[in-house]
Order: sequence, then structure tokens, then C-alpha cells
Amino acid sequence: MKFGGTSVGKPQRMKEVAQLINADKETKIVVLSALSGTTNALVEISNVLANGDRYAAQEKINALEAHYRSFVNELLSKDAVLQKASKLLSEHFEFLNIILKISFSEALNKDILAQGELLSTKLFSLYLEEIEVEHRLIPALDFMSLDNQDEPQVGTIKVKLSQILQKHKEVPVFITQGYITRNAKGEVDNLKRGGSDYSASLIAAAVNANYCEIWTDIDGMHNNDPRVVKTTRPIEQLSFEEAAELAYFGAKILHPASIWPAQFYNVPVKLLNTMDPSAKGTLITEHAGSTGVKAVAAKDNITALKIKSSRMLLAYGFLRKVFEVFEKYRTSIDMITTSEVAVSVTIDSDIYLKEITRELEAYGTVEVDTNQTIVSIVGNEITETKDVMLKLFASINQIPVRMVSYGGSRHNISLLIPRNYKEQTLQVLNKGLFDLE
Ligand code: ASP
Ligand code: MG
Repeated sequence: MKFGGTSVGKPQRMKEVAQLINADKETKIVVLSALSGTTNALVEISNVLANGDRYAAQEKINALEAHYRSFVNELLSKDAVLQKASKLLSEHFEFLNIILKISFSEALNKDILAQGELLSTKLFSLYLEEIEVEHRLIPALDFMSLDNQDEPQVGTIKVKLSQILQKHKEVPVFITQGYITRNAKGEVDNLKRGGSDYSASLIAAAVNANYCEIWTDIDGMHNNDPRVVKTTRPIEQLSFEEAAELAYFGAKILHPASIWPAQFYNVPVKLLNTMDPSAKGTLITEHAGSTGVKAVAAKDNITALKIKSSRMLLAYGFLRKVFEVFEKYRTSIDMITTSEVAVSVTIDSDIYLKEITRELEAYGTVEVDTNQTIVSIVGNEITETKDVMLKLFASINQIPVRMVSYGGSRHNISLLIPRNYKEQTLQVLNKGLFDLE
């Protein structure tokens, strides 16, 4: 069971999480994010420190400490436990204060970022102690690890975690940190922003869990972006492939990398709502459950490149040369469409845009369009489902579509549109594909 930052961000919410994990007697591993806002605060502390502004860092550390002091006072009531909590906060904030005095480094940055999950899990453990729920806190830094490519080592995690669990066979509830891990050098590191979902999925895969439950504050994945359209509805069931496409192409509820461990080890994932625990949520398994369009999602900050060359006509090997340029600059391509004399691709990182464009110019003229959005229509066997294309194109007839990707898989159709048409596109698709406003 993984709980996100908002699910533990207020003392009252943390108490509700304790009720949820205590609701049945099944053995479980509970993975927690940092309290909402904490990782952002730690990132800021790190940033000002990196710029040498110790005064600003000190102020931010003090503000964060004050926040935790009042959090603890509301969370706990027994004197003995409150004392432990106070000591715990002193230790962690003393650590941050010491960091102020030493010279900043990347390893130190990772240590700073780890404080959020260390604090949330330790405080939660103290609350469980107070309400006398038997449990054990197991440090993620004892079993989570990355290889030298910064990829999680599932095999090693499996071995280490099962050794730890073996030692405490009678314990019904284990608590651990999301997000943090050790890297190949043995240092404290993390799984990137939003990485607690990834931790949960890796842990569920490593212990071959019955389910991996991701608890947030919305009742599952929705068919469209609730910030843009008026009416959305939760999706009951998704296949791993569909969920991966949605997570990658913009559904914010799940970290995109968190699908593969669950899929590879075939652990069903449930997306559940702490605010409404009895809501169905979304079940993600190897089966799609139904056919047809299930959701649309949008991903911003996309750059499109068109490489046009008469030399492409009847030539082979042209695409390889083009792709090699992207490979050289470790930039992945999301969409691709071709005509006989041109190829268009999209990328979501323009760190090396200048270099890439310069090298591509050796093969033809290059046009660059920035500030584009990919809108993905995701579902099961959508290419075989009657009328999808008809409804899709009828809905978007006012939208200047730059690229269409169809047939790459049976569960995705992607459109590339200028960013300023995103809202309109999601709205017309909500009506045209789902008959919702
Ligand atoms: N606390 C981390 C973050 O805010 C990890 C997570 O919450 O998933 O990115
Ligand atoms: Mg998250």
C-alpha cells in the first residue's frame, strides 16, 4: 500500500491512513511519500545552498522545522511518544543545520532530498506506536538499490527484502520509505520526482504481492483531465499497456516507470482514494477488461522536428542516420510519421535541440516547432473498434493537427497539436468520444 504526500500531509489524514492499514489482518508493506510540500521545500533548500545563499537556506530550514513541530503536536498526544518525536525532529533538523556549514555537493543534495520520506515514515511509525498497532519500520536504504546505469536492481532488492521479512515473520505491517534508494556507489539517491509509486511497484514485484495499491486523493485514473473538462469519470479497468501509455502521455496520477515492474512480475495494481476508500478506483492487470476508447491524456512541452530531403526518395538507411543523431544525444523520440520525402518526429526534451538540429541539417532541411502538445487516445483494440476514427476526426475538425500516429499499437492513437489548442481538443474529444461535457 503506497500513500502519496497529500494522503499523509495533514495529521488527520495520516490518522486515516493508519485506520486504512489496520482495517484487515493481511500482511502488508506500507510505502510512504514525504508530507505534501516537503520535497519541494527540500529542493528549494538545496537550490539556495547550491547558490551559496546560506541565509536563505537557514530561513527555509527553520520554516520547515516549525511546520513539523506543529504537525507532531497535532498528530500525537501521549507524552512519551511526543518526546520521541521531538527528539527525532531535532536529529533531522540538526542534520540539515550541519549541512549548512559544509560545502555543497551532489551527494549532499541527495541526502537533503531524502529527509522528507525519512521523516514521514518515522512519524507515522510513532503514531502507530501511540495507537498500539504492531508494525516494523524497515529502512528502504537497507534494500533498495540502483545499478551503475541508475536502474533499480530488482534481483538484489528481492533477495535483501526477503531476508529482512524472514527475520520478522510474525510482523503484520511493515513501513518503509518511497522514493529513496542507494545508488551503485552505495550513496543515498532517489528514484526522481514522483518516484514513490515506482518504489511501491518495485517492492510489490520483489515480494510477489497479491496487489500493489496506490492510494491518492482521486478515485482512480479518469477518462480525461479534470482540470480541463467539466465532467470526467474513473476508468474501472486498464491493461498494463494502456496504463503505461496514459501515465507516460500525461495522466498525473501515476509515475510512468511504475508500470513495468508490476507488469513484468504480473502484480495487479489498484489505484484507490484515501478520501473515499470504498470507491472502486482503477484496476490495472494484464487484461484490459473491455474494448474501445478508455481515456485521453495530454503531454505538453513537446518539440516537433521535420527533416525533409529529396534524398530520402527511394533511399534506404535514411531513417537510421536520422535516429542515430537522437541516440547520440540520448534524446528519446515519442511520435514519428513519415512521407516519401520527409520524416517528422517529436521529442520531450530540448536540452540538445541545437546540436540535434545542426547535425540533422546534414541530411536535409529541418523545421522545428516548439510548444506542441501530444494528445493520446488510449484504449483496447481501438483500431478495430467501430466508428472511433470517424468520431475522432469529426470532433477535431476545427483543430490544426500537426501529426497523427495511428497503428503503432492497437491501444493508442496520438495527435500532435499546438499547445494553445489543448483545452479545446480535450473538450471536443470528451464530447465526441465519451459523450461527456
Ligand atoms: N516525495 C517525492 C516527490 O515529491 C516522491 C513522491 O512523492 O513520490 O517527488
Ligand atoms: Mg505522486
